[in-house]
Amino acid sequence: MFGLKLENHYARLPGEFYTLMPGEKVGVRPQLLHANAGAAALIGMEPAAFADPAFTQVFSGHAPLEGFSPLAMVYSGHQFGVWAGQLGDGRALLIGQARNAHGELWDIQLKGAGETPYSRHADGRAVMRSSIREYLCSEAMAALGIPTTRALALVATNEQVWREIPEPGAVLTRLARSHIRFGHFEHFFHTGRPEQVRQLADHVIAEYFPHLVGDHAGWFGEVVKRTAELMAGWQSAGFAHGVMNTDNMSILGLTLDYGPFGFMEDYDPGFICNHTDQQGRYAFDMQPAIAHWNLRALALALSGLIAKEALIGGLEGYESHYRTRYRVLMRARLGLAREDEGDDRLIGDLLALMARARADYTLSFRNLSGEDMDWLKLFGVANPDAQAWLSRYRLRTQGEDLSGLGAVNPKYVLRNWVAETAIRAVEDRGDIATLDRIFKLVQSPFETHDGDEAFAAPPPPEMRELEVSCSS
Ligand code: AMP
Ligand code: MG
Repeated sequence: MFGLKLENHYARLPGEFYTLMPGEKVGVRPQLLHANAGAAALIGMEPAAFADPAFTQVFSGHAPLEGFSPLAMVYSGHQFGVWAGQLGDGRALLIGQARNAHGELWDIQLKGAGETPYSRHADGRAVMRSSIREYLCSEAMAALGIPTTRALALVATNEQVWREIPEPGAVLTRLARSHIRFGHFEHFFHTGRPEQVRQLADHVIAEYFPHLVGDHAGWFGEVVKRTAELMAGWQSAGFAHGVMNTDNMSILGLTLDYGPFGFMEDYDPGFICNHTDQQGRYAFDMQPAIAHWNLRALALALSGLIAKEALIGGLEGYESHYRTRYRVLMRARLGLAREDEGDDRLIGDLLALMARARADYTLSFRNLSGEDMDWLKLFGVANPDAQAWLSRYRLRTQGEDLSGLGAVNPKYVLRNWVAETAIRAVEDRGDIATLDRIFKLVQSPFETHDGDEAFAAPPPPEMRELEVSCSS
């Protein structure tokens, strides 16, 4: 179907890893709002398929993807630092695994396609608001070069879903090489099933880390490295994930489960993007340390499989992987190719300056390659510290090639207010053109996009107080 080469690999694991079940057929007359040609290419699908009426039926869960038995996965996790016990795909369904022309196996998962045995009294639905946010943000992250799940399609279910208020519902089709989480391993460890931990590890290694077959410790070290590098990617982009629970941590080091998340606008290291996170456990500047905490929870889950010394050794590599990658990314953002001993100070001083002035994070980098005045304006008029830093920077970068700065410092990130603009357009007016415009901006964030400069700016006054919470 749709030219996909389906292979049901996850279901080769024993039945205790999942529940086989069809989608619920959520809502009435599902309606395709948007589909993503770039993501389709990942699974070897031609965009012509989008026009096939069967496409909407399949990617809403109203018809099966022929040749595959859909399943919901079981996992557990630590939520906000506390063991939460069994969770699982409460509103997600794996409807396919497709092999692309490069030999890569990709999961095709519906999010919001109805209840499963893991729904725990919740409704199995996803609201339009959150689905649009995930649809746009996963593409924004991919365009920034940050590992992430992808989004293939967004379908309206024409059903009301109850959250704080009734909201329109949606089904999002998510793609990833794998949706396996740290919490999958924790699930079998904490229910006393070491053999299943081993089976799962061997499955993950064989499919996604084939060069490490037989080397469990080497594989754990690789998971640590990918996770550290993901954190460096988030931090350098000014991205915060609102719910860094172990069940939202990808074993492949992908950004996974977009709920409350945020690209920082006014730079504040203590930024909390999730209104529900009152303690600030997942504050922006805590995230690299939280990822390490999550890796420790994973290490415990693997403790029957990998020697303690090897696990500790793997965890010890985290900080240096993180620092190395973060430094590479931040140096690139400033165009510092030649090594100079004052560079770390220069970067640190810029961040301190941005924090004091609450300067816009994205523009503080983007505007470095423009007129001095446009950059200085971000720090308040005639800010002497900003002027002094800029002089230092101009001096330091004499002889550096800065022509590539525009290709590493995005003009567009998915600002909350921009996501909100897309949501209101779709929900209030059925205006898909605005959604599509914003989709194109975030997919090519380094381009200028004449006429859409406003979306590169901080929020207009009426959009300043937006809040995002766990409700999705
Ligand atoms: P999250 O924090 O959104 O990643 O979700 C945590 C757990 O709650 C996962 O097991 C989800 O599948 C489940 N969940 C979240 N929202 C719903 C919902 N509306 N219906 C069923 N399960 C849900
Ligand atoms: Mg989750």
